[in-house]
Amino acid sequence: MSRFLSEKYASLVPYTPGEQPRDAQYIKLNTNESPFPPSPGVVAAAEREARRVNLYSDPECKLLKDAAAKLYGVEPQNVLPVNGSDEILYFAFLAFGDEQNPFAFADISYGFYPVYAQFCKVPNREIPLTSDFSIDYRDYLGLSEQILIANPNAPTGTCLPLWQIEEIVRANPDRVVIIDEAYIDFGGESCVPLTKRYDNLLVIQTFSKSRSLAGARLGFGIGCEALIRDLNTVKYSINPYNVNRMTQAAGVAAIEDDAYYREKAQTIMRVREETTEQLCALGFTVLPSTANFVFAKSDRLSGEELYQSLKSRGVLVRHFTKERIKDFCRITIGTREQMQTLITTIQAILAEKGSSR
Ligand SMILES: *Cc1c(COP(=O)(O)O)cnc(C)c1O
Repeated sequence: MSRFLSEKYASLVPYTPGEQPRDAQYIKLNTNESPFPPSPGVVAAAEREARRVNLYSDPECKLLKDAAAKLYGVEPQNVLPVNGSDEILYFAFLAFGDEQNPFAFADISYGFYPVYAQFCKVPNREIPLTSDFSIDYRDYLGLSEQILIANPNAPTGTCLPLWQIEEIVRANPDRVVIIDEAYIDFGGESCVPLTKRYDNLLVIQTFSKSRSLAGARLGFGIGCEALIRDLNTVKYSINPYNVNRMTQAAGVAAIEDDAYYREKAQTIMRVREETTEQLCALGFTVLPSTANFVFAKSDRLSGEELYQSLKSRGVLVRHFTKERIKDFCRITIGTREQMQTLITTIQAILAEKGSSR
């Protein structure tokens, strides 16, 4: 730290993104990206728009907002496009959090939540997952904090049904309930329709996981007009041109190519079930997943051992050192071929371990 860094950031511990190696020597199953390229229409739209980058992007994201509103079945004033859904999480902590309005979220969830809380000086309470690593919705009824839930949760992959989300929203009428649906397209039921009936529900979605646009940075907030207006107040106080031209155009095209992405999500769900079976056959415990990853624990290798051995053989997965989950690795679902390589690599690691006993 330089001698100029403000006191207020002296103890800040930033988020650690998953490794992004610049060479292609790894099978990358560590950051929940899609293994599939964007649709051809998305590439063409981004290329066309690249010719106009001398001009600022539309701060209102009009075309994108209209397209997204149709996709989600809401009105344009209920949608806020953002530079990756991380950005709207940041806006939400700024808009709805302070000393009097702390946040509550699960002890095992998206690692960015506590970072934003600390950065935005919003006190937070962590609610423990149950012993089977799921969220018990009854732990979230009548809270005195704003509520933030990833559904499906990460890195565990488990999902709450819509009626339990509705119970939480209904039982906290004077609290903002934020549901982060980053992985909802892989088998969960979205709570977007509830935003029409509840003015305290903010839903967050991203095009990073199911729509092959992680590198373009595009996310959305969906909620009642007043909540979206609050978030816009924050946005226009930070960066009005937060979504660049190529990404706005790519987003519109991705929505037009909805069928392409639905088909890819179906493939990933099928491969997820195959991978789960194969891991179980190798002695793994695999949490039931409704996401594009599985959270798995070997009966013979520690999480760290599995992560390191896979990495040295060219397969990257994500390992977290937090005590409660240190035996697990989070494995992104790639193509069928990539997952076959993962399985044969694990077999080789286990065989080597067995012969050294
Ligand atoms: C990946 C992820 C995000 C961030 O997605 P971006 O849109 O790429 O910023 C947000 N929440 C959860 C739970 C995620 O896993």
